[in-house]
Amino acid sequence: MRIPMKSAFARTFLFFTVAICLTSHAPAKAQIPSRPAPQAPVVVEPQPVINPTNTPLLAVAAPMPAPAPTTPRKPAYNSCNVESNTVAMTFDDGPHPKLTPRLLDILKERGIKATFFVIGKCVAEYPDIAKRIVAEGHEIANHTWNHPQLPKLSPTAFAAEITQTNDAIQQATGILPVTMRPPYGAINAGITKRLNEEYGLSVILWSVDPQDWKIRKSDHVSSHIIKNAAPGAIILAHDIHASTIDAMPAALDALQAKGYKFATVSELIAMDRPAAPKATP
Ligand SMILES: [Zn+2]
Repeated sequence: MRIPMKSAFARTFLFFTVAICLTSHAPAKAQIPSRPAPQAPVVVEPQPVINPTNTPLLAVAAPMPAPAPTTPRKPAYNSCNVESNTVAMTFDDGPHPKLTPRLLDILKERGIKATFFVIGKCVAEYPDIAKRIVAEGHEIANHTWNHPQLPKLSPTAFAAEITQTNDAIQQATGILPVTMRPPYGAINAGITKRLNEEYGLSVILWSVDPQDWKIRKSDHVSSHIIKNAAPGAIILAHDIHASTIDAMPAALDALQAKGYKFATVSELIAMDRPAAPKATP
């Protein structure tokens, strides 16, 4: 069918107007670009434009389609309620110049993705390791700048701990974290609310703690993890202790042999389902 010149021009102009509008409204990337986001991304295809009444073109270009509904994040997580045998390995307090690269090798050999709750000042010191964490598909997350007990800080000092760390991570990796772990697990409702609402950070605690910071024996660390892992578990470990890194091959191999899959914390959260209602008598 032959399209009159005027109409063809109008259609072309309209297509680009819609495309530009959609692009300019795209949300800022807040998650690792090289791996799938926790929720399925909303793909917006340009639609054929019909303008039978010949209304002004710019009026047709708006509005944006509403994003697909997603499961809202909870303020804080100790574990997730998932249907599959999936757990999240998490490593705190790095990056460490020698141990973190060794751990990354161990994870890579097994195709395992983990979450690294990094200290801001260590990221500033070792930005290349932070970059490698992200490049290899792991989640990078905020563990404060100086590792203080957050409830003891003034509001200003609290803000500095979170913001400086986010900035260091973003500068090194281009990623703005969406999860954080309070040092020592020290947290309260007010801090959780600030982290959620002002910084867009979910608070991540844990459900399996091998106490690897205290008991520096790799056998203890691996056997505690193997024994206590359960579907939806968030497993705490620290990539600044050699004994923890030594424990990982045995722990990870045993969990894989038991049929466990590994997800980042944000991936695990995306699988989280509301707990089944309690049976009524
Ligand atoms: Zn820590």
